Amino acid sequence: MKITNIKTGVISIPLITPFKTALRTINSIGSMVVAVETDTGAVGFGEAHPTGPITGESMGSVRGAIHEFIVPKLKDKDIASLEDTLNSLDHALVKNTSAKAAVEIAVFDLFGKLYRIPLYRMLGGFRQKVETDLTISVNSPEEMADDTRTAINRGFRILKVKVGLDPELDIRRIRAVRDAAGPHAVIRVDANQGWSVRDAVRIMKTLEQAQLNIELVEQPVVAHDFAGLKEVKDRIDTPILADEAVFSPLDAQTIIDMRAADFINIKLMKTGGLRSALRICALAEMHGVECFMGCMMESRLSVTAAAHLACARSIITRCDLDSPALCKTDPIQGGVEIDGPWLKVTEAPGLGIESIDGVIWD
Ligand code: MG
Repeated sequence: MKITNIKTGVISIPLITPFKTALRTINSIGSMVVAVETDTGAVGFGEAHPTGPITGESMGSVRGAIHEFIVPKLKDKDIASLEDTLNSLDHALVKNTSAKAAVEIAVFDLFGKLYRIPLYRMLGGFRQKVETDLTISVNSPEEMADDTRTAINRGFRILKVKVGLDPELDIRRIRAVRDAAGPHAVIRVDANQGWSVRDAVRIMKTLEQAQLNIELVEQPVVAHDFAGLKEVKDRIDTPILADEAVFSPLDAQTIIDMRAADFINIKLMKTGGLRSALRICALAEMHGVECFMGCMMESRLSVTAAAHLACARSIITRCDLDSPALCKTDPIQGGVEIDGPWLKVTEAPGLGIESIDGVIWD
């Protein structure tokens, strides 16, 4: 099974309500879809959601990375020689992690199709379903309380609360969510780099004293400030989840060596695909650091790949794979099955994606 061509196209999916974090606000998911074609007629699917404020990529840069650098390296590569194909992809260009992830996911999809094995079984086959949280976007405390009640009514028991815009208001936001959610909901907080070390320590200590029972705080300080992250970790009791700080396995190694976080959030759009994500899993397994499986504002296509990885590896103990739950429509046929907070993988080979509606191919 040899690669003959890589096609790119764009999908757009409206969101139920705008997605707001300390970094950005978006009203719809715009993603680049990749179809890797082969000489057997088999097609592998992948997706890149370019998140400029986090990975530095755009639709244009993903398209350019794939057609200028990746296609020439991967043409005629044999899917059966997975390692060689992935090495060529890795060496095609540096950074551009979402572009690489899209193509790499499609290559894994083809490898699974070639040997008729679902991706999660190929990678470890630990479980068949995972539970995701649901994001509560950063808004007024009143709106966030309303969104919390809606989420609980939809069957979600784990909520991820976006904060990081204004330290004083953030405390009121989190209180409003806890009051609306009741005592049994699991509440995690994501500041998306929005706080200083001082803000983070003060806010989290206030929440701890108020006994709001916050499960963890995600990326309180700016991504590159590993020492700041460690300082927050050393000064509060609430566990820390590193997100934007960890793109590569080397980042993960540094965070683990420094003991700068309690958990690591793995996202395929940051790692550049599954192989680097598996390296982070291996490192985390050795050090006993539990991982999250997260996603950007991706469609159910690349979220299917993330769900397969989360089902494959026992070190991934928590999931933040809620972007399909935030969408008004779903153009993906096949793939992971979603029922409220549960994502269930199927036994179809590879990702099990059958088709994608409404793609505007380049
Ligand atoms: Mg995050």
